[in-house]
Amino acid sequence: MAKGPTKYVFVTGGVLSGLGKGITAASIGHTLKARGLSVNIQKCDPYLNTDAGLLNPAEHGECFVTMDGAETDLDLGHYERFMDQELTQASSLMSGRVLRKVIEDERAGKYLGKTVQIIPHVIQAIQKEIIAAAEGYDVHIVEIGGTVGDYESLSFLEAIRELPFVIGRENCLFAHVVYVPYLGASAEFKTKPAQNAVRELRALGIVPDVLAARSEQRAPKSIVNKLSLFSGIPAEAIVLLPNAQSIYEVPLTLEDSGIAGVIAERLKLKISRPELKDWRTIVKRAKTQYSTKACVGVVAKYMDNQDTYMSVFEALRSAAMWNNVSLEIKWIDAEAIENGDILVEDVLGSVDGIVVPGGFGTRALEGKIKAAQYALKTGLPYLGLCLGLQMAVIAAARNAGLRQATSAELDESSPHPVINTMNGQKGKENTGGTMRLGNYPCDLQKGTLAEKVYGSRATVERHRHRYECSNDYRENYEAWGIRASGTSPDGALVEIIEAIDHPFFLASQFHPEFKSRPNRPHPMFSGFIGALVAKDSGNH
Ligand code: GLN
Repeated sequence: MAKGPTKYVFVTGGVLSGLGKGITAASIGHTLKARGLSVNIQKCDPYLNTDAGLLNPAEHGECFVTMDGAETDLDLGHYERFMDQELTQASSLMSGRVLRKVIEDERAGKYLGKTVQIIPHVIQAIQKEIIAAAEGYDVHIVEIGGTVGDYESLSFLEAIRELPFVIGRENCLFAHVVYVPYLGASAEFKTKPAQNAVRELRALGIVPDVLAARSEQRAPKSIVNKLSLFSGIPAEAIVLLPNAQSIYEVPLTLEDSGIAGVIAERLKLKISRPELKDWRTIVKRAKTQYSTKACVGVVAKYMDNQDTYMSVFEALRSAAMWNNVSLEIKWIDAEAIENGDILVEDVLGSVDGIVVPGGFGTRALEGKIKAAQYALKTGLPYLGLCLGLQMAVIAAARNAGLRQATSAELDESSPHPVINTMNGQKGKENTGGTMRLGNYPCDLQKGTLAEKVYGSRATVERHRHRYECSNDYRENYEAWGIRASGTSPDGALVEIIEAIDHPFFLASQFHPEFKSRPNRPHPMFSGFIGALVAKDSGNH
């Protein structure tokens, strides 16, 4: 329980989007937790979607899944990794959810004949969600998605503008993240866009207490003074955040620049000395060039945008740095394999192992199956994540001669759907929030690779899928050279499969990447990186 009233930190962004506002909010969270405080964090997204479940990951980035099955914005992944904390549905609030609630209440007659309006009704509905998420914590951080000035984020901004009247101005801190561009032609940093962004926030009635100025390169100290003069924010409450070599440096920059102390002081938080020793080790590891190198191929249909598979990349990097490995990640276009534009042996011959991440829809599935078939045949280390498990089972069946083996997602009328619709999922293929979502327990079978990498016989992992291994084919697995090494405790659902005679071929129906942390890489990823290195030294 919180010792005094909960304090609030509101994080907004100006000038442009994609500034790393989420990482800044998560880093503030880290520095407060490092002071022994209990902290919750919440993202308010202006989209009219209800959740991130149906958003295209190529456009919006990965859909992050919480333990209680919320389908959220990828920033929640940053929050969890930076704060080493499992979040819930309460940490993700999209306009669609708020509006739906207001309209449902209107239909239920709860407004007693009143005219239902943005102000006060929508605003109050937002505030209620924010206050509920804050309950019981020392500090609650609220990030407002989008850029101040966007039409669609106005309700959220008005909600936080009014909140100090409800919870006390002394309990609130407003942090604004802005951008300071560098003009190569005149060799100078320009503060005008940031000044305007502060003015824009003020025009909405919010006076920022803290300013975080993002830039590509490190800006000189004079920029702080200039920003201070024109924005009226004291210089000690302004922090310069140039691009960092590792995103995990940001909490240290906040600490070392003194801004974390300013935030704690402004909120009159009882402070213990921040404990950042372990985090410094992480940053050091993340920046180290190790002499052992490995190259992983990510066989995917969305190319070149790391946001699409953010947690997978982060899990790979964390596992690599804790195994003293410098990792190169190569995109492998599953569609090009499928179309025969590239030969699987050509493209996979040059990597040390492959990851087949999650995905939906039929595009490029055949390319992924081919990649898995190749890995099974050649002993190339393979890590399958959700869809990556499903493709692996099909690959094993096809390699063993069951040519028509497929997934119902690819061909509904197939005679051999070794991957099939889960009970109760038929007809819901394009609807939101209807999948098997969130935490489920998994038992690991004795004497398997799964048990070895986990070092235990049970785990709990996060899910997001509609299809699964068909039990009609489970007795064929051994003949196909695979085994179900992880199942639901009642044995009814296959959760992990592995190849029997293979150096490292492991795949899960769940998404282990969501539980991986920079300080505690997930065992499946660690095991995979270990196998890449063992392969390099001819150790298998
Ligand atoms: N499309 C597959 C399913 O719905 C896999 C989902 C995933 O990879 N998250 O089961």
